[in-house]
Amino acid sequence: MSNKIVNPKRRDATNASSSSNSNSSNSLSSVGDASAMSADLASLFECPVCFDYVLPPILQCQSGHLVCSSCRSKLTCCPTCRGSLGNIRNLAMEKVASNVKFPCKHSSYGCTASLLYTEKAEHEETCEYRPYLCPCPGASCKWQGALELVMPHLMMSHKSITTLQGEDIVFLATDINLPGAVDWVMMQSCFGHNFMLVLEKQEKFDGHQQFFAIVQLIGSRKEAENFAYRLELNGHRRRLTWEAMPRSIHEGVASAILNSDCLVFDTSIAQLFADNGNLGINFFPNGSKDCNL
Ligand SMILES: [Zn+2]
Ligand SMILES: [Zn+2]
Ligand SMILES: [Zn+2]
Ligand SMILES: [Zn+2]
Repeated sequence: MSNKIVNPKRRDATNASSSSNSNSSNSLSSVGDASAMSADLASLFECPVCFDYVLPPILQCQSGHLVCSSCRSKLTCCPTCRGSLGNIRNLAMEKVASNVKFPCKHSSYGCTASLLYTEKAEHEETCEYRPYLCPCPGASCKWQGALELVMPHLMMSHKSITTLQGEDIVFLATDINLPGAVDWVMMQSCFGHNFMLVLEKQEKFDGHQQFFAIVQLIGSRKEAENFAYRLELNGHRRRLTWEAMPRSIHEGVASAILNSDCLVFDTSIAQLFADNGNLGINFFPNGSKDCNL
């Protein structure tokens, strides 16, 4: 069993506002007249500034030009005619928009899905062609790219994260009593894959602190389904255990932490298992076939 000390990292408080403006309306492959027509119609909704789609509520300038809501909030006049933006709603275009199928914004990465605007955001969030975001917690890093570039990115830009080899490792989080929101991150390489263990401390309310420990696989959702893992806090004649399927870094750990879908414990429990302010967490990755999950 190897023991590794991982130093804590104070969280960057800034939140990620990931807005991708990449869009290519020309890469839509049209099959038959109906979808070709839908593609033609969709192009009418292109924002002249960012080439994303102008979706309801649709507002037009005094001369009838459209601009998307995110560009609109940054503009003082119409980008097409320089006229006043006004607040004129275009209900006819909104009606048309609700019958048009728009290509997924990841179409340039290979997605061929076309969706009603009401379904579009949800699809794009889970679209398998969506670029991967940097899996480090805290959202201070804005990197995104293909899955095979995630590990090179971590090694280049997050050199402080240690990667350990092996299947039975104690992750030692130091200084768990540091005030405020803190993240501890460790990587473990085994079964030909890389896992990232995240321990996050959050101050919930009135100084009440909670710890969240979770594992994500540097891999796709499909790959993550092949694994399970167990986290353990081991103390004198007591043990706290959590078993689950790892998250894929494509979905990330933020929503799981928000929903407490991970190993959660408060400061009193942490003190039960800590030694001199350092907390050991045993991490056992597994093939999912070896578990009863
Ligand atoms: Zn725009
Ligand atoms: Zn205009
Ligand atoms: Zn898609
Ligand atoms: Zn990064």
